[in-house]
Amino acid sequence: MSGSLLRNEPMSKHTSWHAGGPADLFFTPGDARDLGEFLRQLPPEMPLLWIGLGSNLLVRDGGVRGAVVATHGALSALERIGERRIYAEAGVPCARIARQCIEWGLGPAEFFAGIPGTLGGALAMNAGAWGGETWRHVVDVEVLDRRGTRRSRTPGDYDIGYRHVRGPRDEWFVAARFEFELEPDADESRIRDLLERRRQTQPIGEWSCGSVFTNPPGDHAARLIEAAGLKGFRIGGASVSEKHANFIINHGTASAADIEAVILHVQRTVADAFDVRLQPEVRIVGDPA
Ligand SMILES: Cc1cc2nc3c(=O)[nH]c(=O)nc-3n(C[C@H](O)[C@H](O)[C@H](O)COP(=O)(O)OP(=O)(O)OC[C@H]3O[C@@H](n4cnc5c(N)ncnc54)[C@H](O)[C@@H]3O)c2cc1C
Repeated sequence: MSGSLLRNEPMSKHTSWHAGGPADLFFTPGDARDLGEFLRQLPPEMPLLWIGLGSNLLVRDGGVRGAVVATHGALSALERIGERRIYAEAGVPCARIARQCIEWGLGPAEFFAGIPGTLGGALAMNAGAWGGETWRHVVDVEVLDRRGTRRSRTPGDYDIGYRHVRGPRDEWFVAARFEFELEPDADESRIRDLLERRRQTQPIGEWSCGSVFTNPPGDHAARLIEAAGLKGFRIGGASVSEKHANFIINHGTASAADIEAVILHVQRTVADAFDVRLQPEVRIVGDPA
């Protein structure tokens, strides 16, 4: 196998919150074939977690049992395969897809610039920004199952909604084909403007996972959290951002337990105040310390 296999790898090195205990095994494949081989030799009962850039992931302090597969730095092909179509592998950062598509005149892909994760993570989350959403443009996806078998699937195989994707169990995304409208006049200045506007309203550059909770129907999680008086609420090294109430910041020393305790406190306080149960958008995985 050409990939790298690490033992007891701290997940704090692989998450944008910079928190989380060790993964028993941490595998970065050389390419998709290599990944298939790795999966085929894993014991069938071993737990498996795929990650991209860890920008939507809270790993608890006790870490992750079993194997983590990291696609970033591997699975990095990005090609134009037709006038309006592209093919991208799961480890490609969304920002790279946005930049490249703008060069190809495929302007509607610009929303990917707002998502600091990989394509695989965007497919798993139906990530979206500025009115654009990942699955709206998917033609088909390629997946691998636990036995390393690769197959193609179409959007009809999935239940897809706002930050929600449910498909066949024990399958993961390795690539996707997308179709975008041609917008030959698209240029990067629009992306720069959108990112600048975001910098004014969100604590970009601090350690976070972006929005922690999905927006409840007809409302905004940030509005409810702010109205509950929770801006700045802190436990240990983690606090609700003063700039955007749906962000929780790790100020440098937070454990995953600190972050999770803030999440639970926000959920309880908002439920008591407004009778709304906020649902985490971030994925919480692993064992407590
Ligand atoms: C500052 C900041 C701003 C953000 N803004 C936005 C935003 O505007 N819109 C938005 O939607 N999100 C936003 N996010 C959240 C995050 O970037 C997205 O959810 C992103 O899609 C996660 O991608 P990732 O590669 O980091 O996935 P990870 O965090 O590594 O994983 C997230 C989930 O996807 C699964 N997964 C990862 N790769 C695969 C794969 N190949 N196959 C199957 N499952 C997989 C993981 O198991 C996990 O359940 C923001 C995050 C930050 C830090």
